[in-house]
Amino acid sequence: MKTFKSDYLKYSKSGYFDLNGIETIKYEEIEKRVNVKISDIEKIVNETKYKTEAAIIRSKKSKSFIIGKDKNRVNIPTKLIYGSEIIHSHPNGTSFSAEDIVETITFGGKQITAFNDEYLYVFKNNVKDDIKFIDTFNSVLSSTEVTLLKKVNNGTITKSQMDFSINHKVWLELSKMIRGFDYEAYSISR
Ligand SMILES: [Zn+2]
Repeated sequence: MKTFKSDYLKYSKSGYFDLNGIETIKYEEIEKRVNVKISDIEKIVNETKYKTEAAIIRSKKSKSFIIGKDKNRVNIPTKLIYGSEIIHSHPNGTSFSAEDIVETITFGGKQITAFNDEYLYVFKNNVKDDIKFIDTFNSVLSSTEVTLLKKVNNGTITKSQMDFSINHKVWLELSKMIRGFDYEAYSISR
């Protein structure tokens, strides 16, 4: 548990942006409140020290642990996704990438989690209409980009703050628009 409260992430703090309005969760209560195993979080952190991304993929049949090549990428074989619960690290603290969500929906994953020391993101997939999802995703992404770029241009936020928060804002919006798109974001307190 101590290793998880790390200094590894200090380098990326400048890119951080307070995702205000999101729920705070106590680290010790993660397992009780969210369908995520603390032992999985700690295995990933202990094995990678956040120097690379890594993932644990649990399905009924198997459990796989995969370490990525760098801190922005871990390649999860798509054949492992169906019916799985995936937990993976996002060393820079951002929410899910488009690939994370699109692959979970396309290949029928049950749940995907992303975390670092500061944030925990959980997506539970009960999306039935893939086509509507893709269309809505594209339009929400464009409109969110436009909104945030305006804020960057008038100096309300910086470009790195935009880059940090854009994915979160898109998933939050989609969770209001798409049935079965269950997205939760937490800030971790200790
Ligand atoms: Zn990811």
